[in-house]
Parts: sequence; structure tokens; C-alpha cells
Amino acid sequence: MNHSIAGDSLGDRVRAVLQRIAEAARRSGRSPERVRLIAATKTVPIERIREGIAAGIGICGESRLQEALPKIDALGLEQLRWHFIGRLQRRKVRHVVGAFEMIHSVDSLELAREIDRRAGEAGLRQEVLLEVNIGAESTKGGIVPEELESLLPDLARLSSIQVKGLMAIPPLADDPEAARPYFRRLHELTQKLSTISLPNISLTELSMGMSGDYEVAVEEGATMVRVGTAIFGTRHG
Ligand SMILES: *Cc1c(COP(=O)(O)O)cnc(C)c1O
Repeated sequence: MNHSIAGDSLGDRVRAVLQRIAEAARRSGRSPERVRLIAATKTVPIERIREGIAAGIGICGESRLQEALPKIDALGLEQLRWHFIGRLQRRKVRHVVGAFEMIHSVDSLELAREIDRRAGEAGLRQEVLLEVNIGAESTKGGIVPEELESLLPDLARLSSIQVKGLMAIPPLADDPEAARPYFRRLHELTQKLSTISLPNISLTELSMGMSGDYEVAVEEGATMVRVGTAIFGTRHG
């Protein structure tokens, strides 16, 4: 898919993505307000992010901490909210807690415990999503679906985190329809697990879908899509 459409401004592309999200939501009988756009801003300079904000971006997703912190300093936490969407190392957790409204990529109980500890020290509750390895790919991180349920009671004891839902990146494919069965399975998984009532856990969010397949993800129940290339063009570096 070619995302560098000549002539379209960044603002046009943000508005087009927001419109496609809304249309996909309506097609599946959902309210467009239930789907949030997370602009994936890795490698995107601050000036370009500013242009995106002017066109309607309200949340940035960053996956590299070193790159994100100066951007948060420059752009602040008021006009913009920040989500951490990349792999998170335990020793970096203290920099992430508090600066990011939500961490999408909790892939182990150990990481959740560290986030809970740091959030407790900071006197706040950190919202997190559990990253699911929905394609059971050995090269990818994330919790395999079969292990999710047994982790929940341990997560429920961590009172400084709030588990808000699931996140996943399905196996890479050119055809967006290839991702549909994975998105559907994630939605079913969320519905099944949300029947279990535990403290600090309410699985209402589903972060899935990127530039190539976000409309399919919305049709299958995404509440957050993480879109980079379709807004900012092809990344270099
Ligand atoms: C970069 C990134 C995205 C966005 O990918 P695009 O294909 O550019 O839309 C989404 N999620 C994560 C975790 C990312 O790192």
C-alpha cells in the first residue's frame, strides 16, 4: 500500500483517517465516539506532530522512550495525551509511569508488577493494556491467549495499575482481510474475559489495527487504532 499520496497535506490525511474510522464504526453498527485514533509518532519530528494536532490528533503513541521524552517535554501533557505502545523494558518503567496515560504493551506479570510498584511510589494509578500474541508467533512478544485468564487474579492484586483491555499486532500481511480473523478472536477473547469480575480489571478497551488494516479492526471492535504511516507517510529510520 502506498501511503505517500502526493498533494495531500498532513491535515487532509488526519481528517481522512478520522473519517474512515467513523465510517467503519457505522458500518458495524458502532458509535464512532467509541473509537480513538492513536497517532503513532515514532521518527516524526515535533513540528509535524504540531501540524497533526491542529488537524485533530489528540493522542500520540510512542514506542521508543528516548525519542518520546523530549517530545513530551516540548509538546506537553495538556494539549496532547501520550500512550506508550512499544516494547517496554523493566528498568525503563520509572520514566514511563505518569508521563504516559496508558501503556499498551504489558506482556508479562513481572512488567505489570514493576509498573504497579513505580505507580504506587508516584501515588498514581497507571492504566495498562495486556499485549496478546494473537498469532502465537515465536518472534513476537506478548502473552499467549491461553495464559491470559490464569494471569488475571495476580494482576487484580496490583492496586496501582488498572487493566483496561487488550492490545495486539496480528501477523504481518499485505491483505487487510488476513487480519480480520485475529481481530475477531481478540474481540471474542475480551468478551469472554470481561465476564470474570476482579478488582482493578475492566476489559473495555481493544487496541488493534494499524495503517494497513485499521478499518477492518474497527469493524471487528477496536476501541483504539494505532496509525502512523497513513498519516505521516513512510518512515525513514
Ligand atoms: C509504528 C507502530 C504502529 C503504526 O504502524 P503503521 O503501520 O505505520 O501505521 C502501530 N503500533 C505499534 C506498536 C507501532 O510501533
